[in-house]
Amino acid sequence: MKKYNLPVILLKGIVLLPQNTLKLEFDAKNTDNNVIDMSLLFHDNYILVVSEYDSHNMPKIGVLAKIENNLVLPNGNTRVDIKGLRRVNIIEFLNLNKIKEPLESIVSEIALVKVENEEIIINKLIKEIKSYVKNIPYISNSMISLMENEKSLDKFTDIVVPSLINNKEKILEYLNTTSPIKRGEMLLKDIYQEKERFQIERNIDLKIKQEMDENQREFLIKEKIKLLKEELGEQSNKESDVEKLRQRINSLKCPKKIKERLDFELSRYENGSSMSPEINVIRDYIEWLLSLPWNIFTKDNEDLKSVRAYLDKSHYGLEEVKQRIIEYLAVKKISNNNRSIICLVGPPGVGKTSLAFSIAKAMKRNFVKISVSGIKDESEILGHRKTYVGASPGRIITALKKAKSSNPLFLIDEIDKMSNDYYSDPASSLLSVLDPEQNKYFSDNYIEEDYDLSNVLFVLTANNIENIKEPLRDRLEIINITGYTEFEKLDIATKHLLPKLLKEKGLNEEFINIDNDTILKIIRNYTKEAGVRELERQLDKLIRKIVTQIVTNNIKINKVNIDNKVLEKYLGKEKYKFNTRTKSQVGVVNGLAYTIYGGDTLPIEVNYFKGKGDLILTGSLGDVMKESAAIALNYLKSNYQLYKINYEDLINNDIHIHVPEGAIKKDGPSAGIALTLAILSALNKIKIPNTLALTGEITLRGHVLAIGGLKEKAIGALRSGIKTIIIPQDNRKDLEDLPDEVRNNIKFILVKNFKDVYRVVQGVRK
Ligand code: ADP
Repeated sequence: MKKYNLPVILLKGIVLLPQNTLKLEFDAKNTDNNVIDMSLLFHDNYILVVSEYDSHNMPKIGVLAKIENNLVLPNGNTRVDIKGLRRVNIIEFLNLNKIKEPLESIVSEIALVKVENEEIIINKLIKEIKSYVKNIPYISNSMISLMENEKSLDKFTDIVVPSLINNKEKILEYLNTTSPIKRGEMLLKDIYQEKERFQIERNIDLKIKQEMDENQREFLIKEKIKLLKEELGEQSNKESDVEKLRQRINSLKCPKKIKERLDFELSRYENGSSMSPEINVIRDYIEWLLSLPWNIFTKDNEDLKSVRAYLDKSHYGLEEVKQRIIEYLAVKKISNNNRSIICLVGPPGVGKTSLAFSIAKAMKRNFVKISVSGIKDESEILGHRKTYVGASPGRIITALKKAKSSNPLFLIDEIDKMSNDYYSDPASSLLSVLDPEQNKYFSDNYIEEDYDLSNVLFVLTANNIENIKEPLRDRLEIINITGYTEFEKLDIATKHLLPKLLKEKGLNEEFINIDNDTILKIIRNYTKEAGVRELERQLDKLIRKIVTQIVTNNIKINKVNIDNKVLEKYLGKEKYKFNTRTKSQVGVVNGLAYTIYGGDTLPIEVNYFKGKGDLILTGSLGDVMKESAAIALNYLKSNYQLYKINYEDLINNDIHIHVPEGAIKKDGPSAGIALTLAILSALNKIKIPNTLALTGEITLRGHVLAIGGLKEKAIGALRSGIKTIIIPQDNRKDLEDLPDEVRNNIKFILVKNFKDVYRVVQGVRK
């Protein structure tokens, strides 16, 4: 096969196929210009055109081409038409890496093979192309006539490919395929693929168009429905709604600002489209503003004597509590600068809620109550912004709506149970509600307008002040309601609970006659609480059972006598044993605890066994109590001679302290002297009387420090049958507050240090 030498034009990113012409313009300085000159001077205008796609692999096939219409422009540039003639094999490139020399090549011709059934193939292609190009406007008619007159498949494919295929890589593939038959097959396949792609595109277009049409249709239908509805009078419904709202707004007694806001919102409502989702938000908002008791105030009963009388009637005892409340009201009456807020603190069932209700009744104020137990998020108090879906005001505003006046007695229950985690601090938002300096302009997120809360009488309740955060606690006027003694409970039952329960059931107060012993038995054996809630439940149960029995048996009776013996029948088996303390034992001592259920005895057990002097503590003890135990043991170790303890016992044994009822968490320093005595009792085998209890913190030097909650503890101790309590000298002043019943039945012994305790114990034992 003949080989010859040709200058080379290297095309980047474009492909010239035979039968096609390429128009190029060369810069005067470009070396490619030399290539053109070389072709014109030495190669009879022939030139090799190659398309480079990958500079690492130089192509093996190029196009033999001829330069036509060589034109030198005035700026010195050269413009040429290069017509592709046929494919040639490239044997090698010359000057490939020489930048300044023009690129040349050695090429050889490719032998043409005869194509079988050439005409049939061409006709088939023409048919497919024609059906395909129907949809493609950018194929020129001249190309179609050119194609129809071509008889050689070799040329045919090269003529049509650049018009039908616009992917450069694909065209390169056509260039590199030397067999015309293969190119024909490729072309058919590509046409089929293009047709399919085109169909898919068309389907997508159609679908999009359809969807757009549907939206349009929906919009038009909605508009029509709106018009129809207007025709049918729905619009006039809104009009009459607007009219009614306008009347309500006009007759609403409220601050000027609120009236302006209402007018504004009403016009938004009036002019807004009924279709817009906002319209309901506006309507709800107007309703909220209208429903608040803006300028509604009830008139207070200012006669504090009658208030006090009412409290005395409704609540037994609680002398100091009632006194403090009356004083608070008196101060509030003469000065509005009193920034503190009443907080009733005490165990459940001691009457905090019912007392607050009675204050409201006595003062003739409306009463509302919310519980903030478990509230995590401040928006529960301050409301959600209207932009939230389903937004509503917070609990304060919601309660005010219920209160129906702007000066109700507002009870906020269980403020110590408010959750205050790291992220949100509802307690501080509560402060903005309670503080008279801020609450004149209380702003709920939903309501947006200020609401004056300064006339509200807030009363709070809590079980445990320790759980209330400092800034809030500082604002509170804490009034403690401790538990009741048995005899107080007895009085509450006969004078308050029984009459109330009977009345609730529509029965005569004399209908049931229960003697005191029976009520005491209920208190002792069916309840264990500081308050009277469980007692109330048990009495309620008793009455219910009796009434049911009478009604079902059709008994005609005016009065029922209840005594000890029938209790089990109505209330079931006794739940608690009273005063059946275990025998006095070595290593067992009664401490006293103060839990949310009031005061109680706290038995402490100590055992020891061979070991290395370790201290073992069980029974859910808190850190402070664990420290007390360690102090107790170390105090005894350093004073072993004084207490005649065998030192070997201390260092060769492990000491185990257990505080039973392990499920209840116990903490606080006040068990110090009880722990010390329990260890001493175990080591020295001293039996401690089970009617003795101790409470007091101990130091490493053996000093006994004051404790809190003496009243509750003493009441609890009395309930448990304790006869003697050892207390710190520093708690002497608290003895005055104790109920007579406690003082008359329990002997209190004051101690300064543990030596005193030891002396007392020896005395008691003698
Ligand atoms: P708390 O709010 O402290 O948990 P409640 O106010 O709910 O307790 O009181 C529970 C029940 O006990 C109520 O029916 C209440 O009337 C009654 N009660 C509590 N203390 C007294 C009391 N001192 N005098 C009369 N009834 C009382």
